[in-house]
Amino acid sequence: CGVFGVFAPEADVANLVYFGLYALQHRGQESAGIISFDTQKADPLVAHVYKAMGLVSQVFDEKILAGLTGSIAIGHTRYSTTGSSKIANAQPLVVKTDLGDFALAHNGNLVNATELRGELLAQGHALESSSDSEGIAFAVAEAINEGLGWVDGIIKALRRCQGAFSLVMATSEAIAGARDGYGVRPLVIGVMPDGSYVLSSETCGLDIIGADYVREVNPGELVWIDRTGLHSHQWLDEPLPKLCVFEMIYFARPDSVMHGESLYTYRKQLGRILAKESPVEADLVIGVPDSGVPAAIGFSEASGIPYGEGLIKNRYVGRTFIQPTQMMRESGIRMKLNPLKSELLDKRVVVIDDSIVRGTTSRKIVRALKEAGAIEVHMRISSPPVTHPCFYGIDTDSQDHLIGATKSVEEIGKIIEVDSLAYLTKDSMLQATETDTNHFCTACFTGDYPIAVPDKLKNSKLI
Ligand code: 5GP
Ligand code: SF4
Ligand code: MG
Repeated sequence: CGVFGVFAPEADVANLVYFGLYALQHRGQESAGIISFDTQKADPLVAHVYKAMGLVSQVFDEKILAGLTGSIAIGHTRYSTTGSSKIANAQPLVVKTDLGDFALAHNGNLVNATELRGELLAQGHALESSSDSEGIAFAVAEAINEGLGWVDGIIKALRRCQGAFSLVMATSEAIAGARDGYGVRPLVIGVMPDGSYVLSSETCGLDIIGADYVREVNPGELVWIDRTGLHSHQWLDEPLPKLCVFEMIYFARPDSVMHGESLYTYRKQLGRILAKESPVEADLVIGVPDSGVPAAIGFSEASGIPYGEGLIKNRYVGRTFIQPTQMMRESGIRMKLNPLKSELLDKRVVVIDDSIVRGTTSRKIVRALKEAGAIEVHMRISSPPVTHPCFYGIDTDSQDHLIGATKSVEEIGKIIEVDSLAYLTKDSMLQATETDTNHFCTACFTGDYPIAVPDKLKNSKLI
């Protein structure tokens, strides 16, 4: 998911949140929402809410944004990992408290959602949806209604949560940002030319509204941004940084910066190392758009094999509401990616992608390249085989669907019908960053889960 928030005392900020969400669209295409608080209204403690299924551009128009008045606003783009795909699960969520409405936008996934939900139901809260995020919102309401102030109440609630959470929150007084003690999902702070603060999942969300990057919200930190400025509270004493390495490799936008490092540069570097680790004789290097492109450019630079475009992506194919016909579905990938015959004919092609998850896309791509005239297709992947499911907010499926969990690299090569296949090693993936190599979650490549996953949840996704 993508989360975003702005507090700018002098302006209606929903428009800024809209643009921020636009830049974070890649983090979730299922639903989008914005809430705002307006101190000028008769009901300053009540959040104004608009959310709907679909892309940011489909959900909002000028009229809707004009209704979301006020100097405090937060937004969310949803990608469902827990809870089904329906409007009840769209965010930001709003709950009533004794201090007024509390709004929350969550990126990540709690591993103790079932336990937390059970406790809150026992405490008499009427939880409505199946999403883990609702548990966090009601835990805040519970603490506020016990008499705590906002900051203490939020901290008390955060301490009941286990798992991955980057949160952007809002009340009638402030916006707030928080990360779990591992910092699994990203969250950054920006500042506008007028001094107003912005919170965004990624730095690309700051760029689009002209905000400057200040720093990350730290693992285990809560930042509270009100009329008097930004106040930092370390709510967890011993954070253990474990940023999701898959954010670096695939999920985040290449024009975002994490740990001070350009993701485009990092991905290009992965391609360079891949070319040295697993060289191949070929005439052309191509990337699978868009995520495989930076690594393909790096592979070309290091190998000396020319880079070219071999697959053209239709940029307007999103998660569409109109399902393709069966016949179209069988031809599958062509709706999104079309091979460029003129470039591929009679060439030995190296095709670079960032990852193989189920292997179904890869097989279709390889077939399409061969049908378009490539005489050899060699695949190089700029990450190790995905062998384990993610419990922290990336939808890489249950283990039985992960081709790397049960098949060897050689077997996968046969299944996807390539002439050769190689993956990047785990050590190279980590050493290519400028960050301490211990500061990443790598569980989907290693099974080494930094946040303990309760057995019941683990068993639901592991073979
Ligand atoms: P596969 O061959 O496994 O079907 O597809 C691999 C492609 O899926 C890669 O291009 C990669 O960018 C993309 N991918 C990687 N992780 C995920 C994920 O969690 N969800 C989705 N929808 N696609 C992913
Ligand atoms: Fe990221 Fe993989 Fe860890 Fe999930 S398991 S947080 S996708 S590195
Ligand atoms: Mg891809």
